Amino acid sequence: MKRILLWTGVGLTAAAIVTVAVLILCTCVFGNHTYTSATCTAPEICTRCGATRGEPLGHIYSDPTCTEREICARCGERSGEPLGHVWLPAACTEPETCARCGMTRGEPLGHDLTEANYQTPATCRRCGDVFGEPLPAALKDRTLNEMQVGVPVPYTTASYEDYDVDVTGTAEIVDYTVTPGNDAFPAREGYEWHIATVQLVFGGEDAQKNGMLSAHTFGDWYLLDDSMAATEDENGLRPFMCDWHGMRVQCWQKTGPNEEADWYDRELRFRWKEGVLVPEGYDGVLLILYHYRLAAHATHLYLPASEVLDEHALVFRMQ
Ligand SMILES: [Zn+2]
Ligand SMILES: [Zn+2]
Ligand SMILES: [Zn+2]
Ligand SMILES: [Zn+2]
Repeated sequence: MKRILLWTGVGLTAAAIVTVAVLILCTCVFGNHTYTSATCTAPEICTRCGATRGEPLGHIYSDPTCTEREICARCGERSGEPLGHVWLPAACTEPETCARCGMTRGEPLGHDLTEANYQTPATCRRCGDVFGEPLPAALKDRTLNEMQVGVPVPYTTASYEDYDVDVTGTAEIVDYTVTPGNDAFPAREGYEWHIATVQLVFGGEDAQKNGMLSAHTFGDWYLLDDSMAATEDENGLRPFMCDWHGMRVQCWQKTGPNEEADWYDRELRFRWKEGVLVPEGYDGVLLILYHYRLAAHATHLYLPASEVLDEHALVFRMQ
């Protein structure tokens, strides 16, 4: 009897052990869950009982780009929409370009060039880049007797008595100013007066005996231009044209009254002002003193510059 009880006890114990082992191995009643790893969208889940623990990890999205939606670095899930390119307009030397990714499309526009003129080189209307040089001035390579302010230079012209007789004195630009205007030289919007005070001095026997006649006219450094009117209007202005940044621009010339015109201490002296009204900054007008004989048989004194600009002519550039 004792033996039977003993074996029964052993049997029950073994069954209990087996039962517990089965419960441990096959169920989660002791809290021994077997969890999967959490994913972006699911928490840890027990493979046996489906119990969950914690929270889903959530996606780790990359930033979207111009052409790609956002992508989860963990699971590859895509979301949202690509941003699309942000196109900056094409420029002279750059095609259309995405501000975000730098992608380009199409071709650069190319420069849109003006024609060069006497003051400015060919210039792109769009970006302002300049190319090459301004047009060469017509007189750039001519040797001229250029006068400097305050420096008397010999001036040979015709005798008052006989145009075939030469007399020589001096010519000097004694003063040169650039001004908007004054009483004698009326101002004009966008223009400025360039005013030279010219002085001629003829002395000695030659002058005493023969007297002298002077002649002057105007020309243009850039474009040997003969547009200056021979006669003045009722305001004493003589129109001419200049070539300013590619445009033909109306200008005017005015001769002031004589400030001196007589004998002074055995010297024959003349002094007067010559003004030109030109666009602000224009530097091309030439005041030209030439031999009176050239004009002696002409109908007027203001001969075209092209007819008087020889190696003897004195030239003052009103710049
Ligand atoms: Zn479980
Ligand atoms: Zn994910
Ligand atoms: Zn882009
Ligand atoms: Zn350009």
